[in-house]
Amino acid sequence: MAPTPTNPLRVVIVGAGFCGLTAAIECKLRGLHPILVEAYPGPSSHGDLLDFVRNAGRVFESWDGGKVGRRLMAAGVNAAKNLEFYNAQDVLLRKDPWPQATDDDCVYAGHRGEMHRIVHEYAVEIGVDMRFGKRVIQHLDTDAERGVVVVANRKGDELHEKEKILGDVVLACDGPRSLARSQLLQLPESRVNSGYAIFRAYFNITDEMRQLPHFGGMISSSEDRVRFWVGRDMHGFIYTWNHGRDCAWVLTHLDDADIAETWSFPGKKEDVARYLTDAGFPPIWHEVLGVSPADRIIDYKLVWRDPVPTWLSASKKCAVMGDAAHCHLPTSAQGACQAVEDAVTAAICLQKCNDSNGDISVAEGLQVFERIRFNRSHVIHQASILTRNIYHKNSWTPELVREFPDSLVIPFYPWITDFDVFSNAEEHFDGLLRDVRSGKEGTLEELALPAGGDYSAMLLEKRGPKEEERQGKREQVVVVAGDVVAGDVVEVQS
Ligand SMILES: Cc1cc2nc3c(=O)[nH]c(=O)nc-3n(C[C@H](O)[C@H](O)[C@H](O)COP(=O)(O)OP(=O)(O)OC[C@H]3O[C@@H](n4cnc5c(N)ncnc54)[C@H](O)[C@@H]3O)c2cc1C
Repeated sequence: MAPTPTNPLRVVIVGAGFCGLTAAIECKLRGLHPILVEAYPGPSSHGDLLDFVRNAGRVFESWDGGKVGRRLMAAGVNAAKNLEFYNAQDVLLRKDPWPQATDDDCVYAGHRGEMHRIVHEYAVEIGVDMRFGKRVIQHLDTDAERGVVVVANRKGDELHEKEKILGDVVLACDGPRSLARSQLLQLPESRVNSGYAIFRAYFNITDEMRQLPHFGGMISSSEDRVRFWVGRDMHGFIYTWNHGRDCAWVLTHLDDADIAETWSFPGKKEDVARYLTDAGFPPIWHEVLGVSPADRIIDYKLVWRDPVPTWLSASKKCAVMGDAAHCHLPTSAQGACQAVEDAVTAAICLQKCNDSNGDISVAEGLQVFERIRFNRSHVIHQASILTRNIYHKNSWTPELVREFPDSLVIPFYPWITDFDVFSNAEEHFDGLLRDVRSGKEGTLEELALPAGGDYSAMLLEKRGPKEEERQGKREQVVVVAGDVVAGDVVEVQS
């Protein structure tokens, strides 16, 4: 017989990225007992640029009367006015207000490591039970034992220090290389090279850099600057912030490297320079590259995984979420935000189980969680390919931008950014629980909430075959040097 769930529910959470940390914090705030297990020895300072817009930012803002949000704001890009778009010839294509300049609430962008440190600090403050330096080697999902087996994440210790951490439910937030995906969902490893990689760097700006003719113009003590360049099969961002003291840049480029074992390497300046030259990127890029400390450049291979068909284990008492369930390409501009939405929704659903005195089972709660999240996250995940192709497969000029003003944009649509993850879960929980209990039939796509929107506004003029459209497929047609060519066909649900 299955053991009676403990009260408060013990929620074993794997991975202390933004998904796992948020899930742990939200569970703790809701009276559950989260136990967070992470392989790294502490909060990771790694990474460079990461953006959270309002749909996730409002979660941070809700913590500690807004104090966490204020700390994130102080540490990140908080004085930008515009987001400027340029083509490879350095022609200004459009200038949009930086999201935070029109809504000073809940948009947090900046150095991933610093934001991670702030969120981790709050988890410590509220007393989340966190076990760092513990690597999960096995997931347990039987009636007798639900949880994980961990080892100390030090070389050579594997044989000596196995430990079981058990609970009523497991939330696996173990990132793109998720072990849970294979052990809990029984899915084979499905990574494919997306065909693209990102060179990325983060460093402190020196006085010498301020004197440079091109890069120097992007450094200001009173204004943060965010610029985007797009060329053939390549695009990049440069951010400067913190009173002109910090810089990060990312450059997405075509790449055919083998990603069999690892996909993060030190980046070589000569490789970056070659890509910049081939794409005809302007002098500012060569200057930024020239002054970037060589040991700060990373060559990060972008791996694509198709959406997983379910996020729940056979028992429905373990869920995979965040990047483990939907590893976005950066062009969705929503990977971390969707991970945060998953985490909050799971915590709300589990709280309802906890507070129901046994009336709502964990399996029911997690099925509702999956139905709340599946379509929204799926559509946003899939769109990262569409968005990249729109950026990369067109020859962007001011005329083309004027003709298709909704195409060269960061897709921060209201249905994405104005989304209130808290009220959405509260609003739909009871109805979806009824569906689960009544055994309503259908595919997960049919049973789950509609995504709430799509990316059709970004498409350039549609001249695709009418038949495709009648079959519900949207033909992405991109304009290349005056010719019309068909791009990827992307199923967009609404
Ligand atoms: C070190 C690092 C640097 C990053 N840098 C950037 C960046 O610069 N820009 C950007 O846009 N995105 C970056 N990301 C990705 C971004 O943070 C995530 O895409 C997003 O926040 C989703 O978060 P997640 O929590 O689902 O996954 P992740 O952030 O990948 O977190 C997964 C966590 O699970 C842990 N884990 C995995 N397997 C195990 C295991 N077996 N046992 C225990 N723990 C395990 C990992 O150590 C990791 O901390 C980075 C992620 C990491 C981990």
